[in-house]
Amino acid sequence: MDEAAAQEYRTWSGSVQFTPGRHLEPADEGALARIIGRAREHGHTVRPRGSGHSSTPLIASDDVLVSLDGLSGLIDHDTEAGLARLGAGTTLDQAGAELAQAGLAMENFGDVSYQTLAGAIGTGTHGTGLQFGNLSTLLAGGRMVTGTGEVLDFGTDDDASPATAPPPGSRPVGGDDDIARAGAGAGRTEDALLRALGVSLGTIGVMTAVTIRVTPEYDLRRLEWSAGAEWAIDHFLELSLTNRNADIYWYPRRDEVKVRTLNLPEHTASVMPANAHVVAEQTGPSHEIIPTVPPLRFDEMEYLFPLEVGMDVFQAVRERIKSHHRQHVAWRVLVRTIAADDLMLSNATGHDSMSIALLHNAELPEDPYFADMEPLLLDYGGRPHWGKKHSRTGAHLAPMYPQWQHFQQIRHRHDPEGVLMNDYLRSLLEQDQDGANGDQS
Ligand SMILES: Cc1cc2nc3c(=O)[nH]c(=O)nc-3n(C[C@H](O)[C@H](O)[C@H](O)COP(=O)(O)OP(=O)(O)OC[C@H]3O[C@@H](n4cnc5c(N)ncnc54)[C@H](O)[C@@H]3O)c2cc1C
Repeated sequence: MDEAAAQEYRTWSGSVQFTPGRHLEPADEGALARIIGRAREHGHTVRPRGSGHSSTPLIASDDVLVSLDGLSGLIDHDTEAGLARLGAGTTLDQAGAELAQAGLAMENFGDVSYQTLAGAIGTGTHGTGLQFGNLSTLLAGGRMVTGTGEVLDFGTDDDASPATAPPPGSRPVGGDDDIARAGAGAGRTEDALLRALGVSLGTIGVMTAVTIRVTPEYDLRRLEWSAGAEWAIDHFLELSLTNRNADIYWYPRRDEVKVRTLNLPEHTASVMPANAHVVAEQTGPSHEIIPTVPPLRFDEMEYLFPLEVGMDVFQAVRERIKSHHRQHVAWRVLVRTIAADDLMLSNATGHDSMSIALLHNAELPEDPYFADMEPLLLDYGGRPHWGKKHSRTGAHLAPMYPQWQHFQQIRHRHDPEGVLMNDYLRSLLEQDQDGANGDQS
């Protein structure tokens, strides 16, 4: 097992910094089980980290921080079943490349591919597209070391697990049929442990392997064009329904948007203004075309809303930024769509969603901007992204998640002593709406 000398750890944007007591990289599952078992015995805590791309202190620890970098790569796959098993520390980039070698692909990515599979799944990382749930909905099974040090198979990896309903990945992706089915939701997952693990912030167990739903590999064509903000507001839903993936970046100073669409190469562009100015066009393998490379380090606040109210929220955000922040806000606003799911702590649970993300240059102070905008996002009943800036605690969040208490029961069953917790997670998960401890088992 590798042990990095205890030194400060900084997340990608640099806005979360801490010095763990020990920073360990177990070479295998046995070593990880020993780390967690020993921590439990001695009253210590363990936090698993992925690529450190979350900007809330989910992985902060002054005790043991574990990296799963050593457990990465494609382990096996079943093309017919549409399943692939990968090490939990595999980055999305690596997953895309290794799956492609096996003729397979993920149905969607977020905006970048630096995250690890377990880290992206851990916070409900999403891309855009009404036929796609967040990446957590791809989780079909896997293996983990729980907070008690027990090694446990779950979902499809657990022979005793109840069967799961046909997943959304069993639909063909990208064709016109899909578009007709847009909004149908990401399917129901029958296994309660899987529904809890889907978005679990590393608080039920440390995953060592994940089995995800995959599709045959496919190419996509990326098209980006600029348009006026008013045009985009009027047409965003139509864009979302007629393209495989569509999102918009709004640039406050110019009050213009960049529309980004992704489609199978043979798909003809649908709605597009006559004076649209095409700024990028590219075709290639999906895992290379979907993720992009951000040109600067940024921090981000993102909330998800029921699809029907999303554009009202965007309008309100636009007005507020124009009247209060236009001269100081240091980047752009990203609007995307996500299919509904039934994962206990997914911020898209129960309804198709629209996400609104405020991106701000990480070199500049973000406090006045995010602090001023967040009440507006809350007024519309938004649920925050678990891995991005927000100020919410369990007292506020519990009533927004119908399966909150069920999640707490499952978490408590697998980590009764809170070995996998830190102070921040306690503020998120251990206060329900009455301010009482959420552990109900
Ligand atoms: C440049 C950039 C672009 C982004 N783009 C998007 C986007 O398009 N869409 C979106 O939704 N989000 C996006 N995010 C947010 C990002 O996807 C999430 O914060 C994601 O969780 C980061 O993954 P990570 O591997 O860095 O995990 P970390 O941030 O290191 O950890 C995230 C969570 O996963 C847990 N975890 C990590 N490994 C394991 C494991 N093996 N077992 C159990 N739990 C584990 C951690 O404990 C933690 O709770 C972006 C962030 C950045 C910085």
